[in-house]
Amino acid sequence: MSSSGIHPSMVVRVHAPDRTPRHEAAFDWVLTAVLGLKWRWEDDVDVYQNDVEGIRCHYGASLDLPGVAFPAEGLLSELGQLRPKAPEIEGGNADLFAAAFWMGSRMEEFLPQALRDDHGRFDPSGSEPEQKGWLARPVCEEWAFQIGEKLLGEEAWLAHRQRLIEAHRVEPTLDVDSAYAFRGKGAYRTLGATFRDLLRGKLRHAWRRWAVIMGQSKDPYDTYNLASQWHDDHELKVRWFFLLADFGAFDKGLPSSSPLLARLMRTLERQEANEVHWHPGHQAASDGAALKSEFKAFERIMGRPPLASRQHYLRMEPTLSRRRLLDLGIQQDHTEGHAKCTGWRGGFARHRRWYDLEAETLTALELYPFAAMDATFLRYMKVPPEDVPQEMGVLADAVRKTGGPLRFLWHNESLCPEDQWRHWGQVYPAVLKATCER
Ligand SMILES: [Zn+2]
Repeated sequence: MSSSGIHPSMVVRVHAPDRTPRHEAAFDWVLTAVLGLKWRWEDDVDVYQNDVEGIRCHYGASLDLPGVAFPAEGLLSELGQLRPKAPEIEGGNADLFAAAFWMGSRMEEFLPQALRDDHGRFDPSGSEPEQKGWLARPVCEEWAFQIGEKLLGEEAWLAHRQRLIEAHRVEPTLDVDSAYAFRGKGAYRTLGATFRDLLRGKLRHAWRRWAVIMGQSKDPYDTYNLASQWHDDHELKVRWFFLLADFGAFDKGLPSSSPLLARLMRTLERQEANEVHWHPGHQAASDGAALKSEFKAFERIMGRPPLASRQHYLRMEPTLSRRRLLDLGIQQDHTEGHAKCTGWRGGFARHRRWYDLEAETLTALELYPFAAMDATFLRYMKVPPEDVPQEMGVLADAVRKTGGPLRFLWHNESLCPEDQWRHWGQVYPAVLKATCER
């Protein structure tokens, strides 16, 4: 026996009559993504019955079969159909695989009556997960743990559970919408901005802009060394997502042709603690040509294609945006999370494969959820900055129970105590402390 209590060669064999791609997704998420078990389908019922090797379980089959029985309530067989209500999770009709699929496929977001905000994002207000308090915990991982206990038996489960819980990590991610406040924006935008400052009588601002450009003072958004120090204090690995979009109403970063931006991205990537990824723009969420052109810009700057991305403003066209990311060879999408509130939008903290509900296919794109964003506390929840570390500590406690990673989304801009972030100068290091130190 291994220290996990399960023999390393132990395979879970699953018999599920008339299984569909929805079965594939639900079992992949629960058994692989959360429980980290080796498993395979055993479609032939005779082989399933006669071969006693491994741990046997059946789903939606006759209760007379040997092995652990999981009754099915039907959702996984209803291809092409959307249900507004989540399956039961307690009592005689409970089906935790179906519930995990309902939550993890984000089925409710595809209903015609789904609420959307000005950016086209799903609005969770009044949704069943919000009302039931499911967003505050990685609820699908809790259900997976219940399944794990039933499957492995109490003794083996205790040891396996311990190993899963010990895998917990804090994984900060930072979006860089604008790498610098004043530097690298090009002559045209710099002169335009200066004229605007002067017209509005903002003389100090205009003066400051030029002091930064002339190298006399530091750019306020240049918070990269500070962030590195704070991350090093907790030995954290960090993912940076860089906006490379053409200038637009919601895309106001440096031009992707900026040598300054390229130098920053390459410098960060050379540091062992950092990974550099792509932040597709607001426009690119619904414009395939813009998406492709940003992809090429990333490739040109980094000398390699991007493998991970997160959408700017978390903006996506349902289905379409992720299909386009897949077509471009993106392997990880870090967009799953709400702008309006904190928590686990799809019920998972660990990464899992994206299920394309419109095609009814489990895809190769891995969704990497995050649980909180700086702008959510500031703009939507209006949490006083001094209370943010405590709120983050509560999320860390919630995810530690099942050992998933705590990912959160901060911006290089919010590390600089100015303008809307003026009271936020010490929030980020306090958040790292509150989430990392136990
Ligand atoms: Zn952004």
